[in-house]
Order: sequence, then C-alpha cells, then structure tokens
Amino acid sequence: MNRVYSVGEPMELQENISLAPLTTFQIGGPARFFVEARSAGDVEGAVLLAQTRDLPLFVLGGGSNLLVADQGWPGLVLKVAIAGIDQDSGDWNGKTIFQVGAGESWDRFVSKAVAVDCAGVECLSGIPGSVGGTPVQNVGAYGQEVSSTIESVEVFDLKEKQVRELCNEACGFSYRSSIFNTSESGRFIIMHVTYALTPGGEPYVEYNDLKRYFDGRDRSPSLAEVREAVRRIRARKGMLIVEGDPDCRSAGSFFKNPVLTEEQYDALQKRAAEKKLTIPNHPALKKNHKVSAA
Ligand SMILES: Cc1cc2nc3c(=O)[nH]c(=O)nc-3n(C[C@H](O)[C@H](O)[C@H](O)COP(=O)(O)OP(=O)(O)OC[C@H]3O[C@@H](n4cnc5c(N)ncnc54)[C@H](O)[C@@H]3O)c2cc1C
Repeated sequence: MNRVYSVGEPMELQENISLAPLTTFQIGGPARFFVEARSAGDVEGAVLLAQTRDLPLFVLGGGSNLLVADQGWPGLVLKVAIAGIDQDSGDWNGKTIFQVGAGESWDRFVSKAVAVDCAGVECLSGIPGSVGGTPVQNVGAYGQEVSSTIESVEVFDLKEKQVRELCNEACGFSYRSSIFNTSESGRFIIMHVTYALTPGGEPYVEYNDLKRYFDGRDRSPSLAEVREAVRRIRARKGMLIVEGDPDCRSAGSFFKNPVLTEEQYDALQKRAAEKKLTIPNHPALKKNHKVSAA
C-alpha cells in the first residue's frame, strides 16, 4: 500500500490496492488507484480526481455482487464508506424513517431496524454487502424487496455533477433491477438511502421455507425470530457469509426466478397439476407471477 496524494483528510489516494480481499469471491487483480470515501465531500473529491487525471471510475460497495478480472481495474476504484444510521420517529404517516450511509453494512442496518421493532427488512437479513448496493439491483429475499421500503436515494450525479435526491419512483425499481443497473448504469454514486419502516409491524412470513420453519408454533413469530430464521435457512443453503465456509466465496445466485404472464402461469399450473405438483407463486410486476427457477 502506497499513499501518494491527499485530497483533504481523511481521504487518501492509494496505489495498486488488491481488490480480492474486498470482494466475497476473493479473487481478481488490483486497482491502479483506490480511494475510500467517508463523506459526500470525499465522493466529489474522488470524482474530480478521476476526471482531472482521466481515470476510468469504478464504484465499489461491499464487493458481494462483483467478479474482479485478473488484470484488475486500470483506473480509480472509489469505495463508498459513508457511515451512519439516523433514525427519525417523527410524524411520517406512521412510519419510522432511517437515513443510512451507503457504506454501512446492510445486515447491521437490518439488525438495528429489528432491534427497534421496525418491520420491512427482516427477511433481507444475511444479504451481504453495503446499504448503497441495495437499490442497485433492488435486493430481495423471502418475499421482501428494498423497493417496498426505500423512500429516496441520495446520489452524486456524474452527468449533472451535483448531489441529487431521487424519490422511489425515479429509481425505476422492478425485480432485481433499477435505473442504477439498467438505463442509468454508471451515472450515479449512491451516498445515502432513506428507508421508511413500520414500527411495531408484523414480520413478513409468506415464503414456504419460512412458513415451514415456524410450522406447529402456537403464536406468530417476532421480527427478531423471523430475522434469525432467515439467517439459519440461508446458512443451510450456503447463502450466509460464515468465516471459513468456502461456499461463501460467491456472488449469490446466478439466476433470476422467471416472471410469467397470467397466461404462461396458467399453462404452467395445468402442467404441474397433471404431475400433482404445486408451483410456488409470488406476485410480481403488477399482474405477473414470479415462480421458482428450481
Ligand atoms: C452469499 C451471497 C448471498 C446473496 N444473497 C442475495 C439475496 O438473497 N438477494 C439479493 O438480492 N442479492 C444477494 N446477493 C448479492 C449481493 O449481496 C447484493 O446484490 C448486494 O446488495 C450487493 O451490494 P454490494 O455493496 O456488495 O455491491 P458491490 O458488489 O460492491 O457492487 C455491485 C454493483 O453495485 C454498484 N454499487 C455498489 N455500491 C454502489 C454505490 N454506493 N453507488 C453506486 N453503485 C454502487 C457497483 O458499482 C456494482 O456495479 C448475495 C451475495 C452473496 C455473496
């Protein structure tokens, strides 16, 4: 590690930093230049630096949805490390608002939300990565998606060269997709995400795995119990990062579940009925049905 330039403390420009340890795959080459941004000012400073030195910019979160090439990254890797979980329980239509720094660990936020009895993200426990990574592919698991609780996303817009606040609708969320990984890919650096959660809300127990886990119970599970159940189910499937478990060296699922139209879903159900099979079905994208790829 070699410190060569300082753009106002605490941001440092570093050279030839190995990216492998910063990803869940733990493979891949180095970043030619590397900056850890702990504030909006750092983000802007890093962008300016990349532009003045004509360096291609790559934005890194928790590295859990990423495969770095062996030759590494020839330009500047900007690791978003903006911290902070600010809770506002004021009058927000019965919701509790959390403004969270993009560099926070996603699961730390879930754990905090559950600890203060706020529902809406409990099924998303155990998803690795950063808070800033969650809007990018609209992360989801066990029937919940962040698009249901995201109020807004604060970004640095590389096109307009300014900080902007994008409301939920502007993010264009759909199944594992948003403007951040489609139409506007590479345009925005996410700095904060604001979530609206339901204080005292019921946990979401709709997926079969979770229902089975609580089968035979005489009372409904708490948010904390659902979070714990999700983590245990994920651990059984190698979908929880556990120190020393080689299964964790992945980037999660490599497939998406098929989203079927009403007609396609009816046809599939008919075929399944002939074989006495039940097809798990989850509402998706208005009238469509999301079925299990398995
Ligand atoms: C074991 C395992 C289980 C997983 N399970 C799930 C799951 O159940 N559901 C699910 O949806 N995903 C899952 N994933 C995938 C992954 O954890 C999520 O997509 C996560 O949100 C990625 O966030 P990250 O911070 O690690 O992003 P990174 O991997 O660092 O980056 C991914 C992409 O997002 C961009 N990005 C990251 N941060 C920012 C930012 N602040 N601003 C702009 N762009 C940014 C990067 O440029 C890159 O294009 C899993 C991964 C693993 C390894």
